[in-house]
Amino acid sequence: MTVEQAAEILASAQRGVALTGAGVSAESGIPTFRGAGGLWTKYDPVKVSSIESFLADPASYWSVARERGRVALSARPNPGHVALAAMEAAGRLSAIVTQNTDGLHQDAGARRVIELHGSGRMVQCLECERVEPRSEVQARLDVEMPPRCRSCGSTFLKPTVILFGERMPAAAVHDAFELARQADVMLVVGSSLVVYPAAEIPLMAVREGARMIVINAESTPFDRLADVVIRGRSGEVLPQIAALIGA
Ligand code: NAD
Ligand code: ZN
Repeated sequence: MTVEQAAEILASAQRGVALTGAGVSAESGIPTFRGAGGLWTKYDPVKVSSIESFLADPASYWSVARERGRVALSARPNPGHVALAAMEAAGRLSAIVTQNTDGLHQDAGARRVIELHGSGRMVQCLECERVEPRSEVQARLDVEMPPRCRSCGSTFLKPTVILFGERMPAAAVHDAFELARQADVMLVVGSSLVVYPAAEIPLMAVREGARMIVINAESTPFDRLADVVIRGRSGEVLPQIAALIGA
């Protein structure tokens, strides 16, 4: 299937919604979890990304988070992020719902970004709730491991991301499903579509009558439900679609 077919569908979208996953940031140098070269070929996800393991041993959590943070904090948006922001500005997308925590959609100029899994740009103290920029915590990891809260001294400083075992932010989940229910076009990019409830969002959209476009490097469980499937890199495919619809 072709970018022309995707462009034809998106060109007439009135309430388009994008759902993005780690794949959209791969070309910015941030490794995905699954798929070729994914982080989970190196780490046990439950060990490094669950609230239980964080609470049991914040220093171990931060020893992995430190390396990933170094990459994510210096990453820049790629042409895929820029194209999605342009589609929003042109009125073809009403919002970008993302599973990513890297903040790159916002950096690319997207205005309505719904972060289902929180943001890795901030850190919160679980004892006193003080929030500070991730970059500040990152900067003191060389001398302080695990990092301590500047207000209360607690070692339970956690990035404001949703770890395994934590509830997703209710408002974000509500908004995402509401947008999907009303969507006329659902554009799914760079998501393996195996993490629930995020994967239910496109299902809801299709059930309520939206047309679906899937752009991903590998096949996904929802390809057979899509009107158009494009196997490719989002940083290459999305700018082509944006150009065709004049976004
Ligand atoms: P995933 O890692 O499960 O899947 C990524 C998918 O993207 C794979 O199917 C892969 O084939 C595809 N892909 C890889 N490179 C691509 C490219 N250049 N263009 C298009 N597709 C590409 O990601 P997921 O579905 O988002 O779910 C996993 C979880 O990972 C999410 O909960 C998210 O919070 C978290 N995560 C976020 C980041 C980030 O913020 N950038 C990075 C890694 C993981
Ligand atoms: Zn504190």
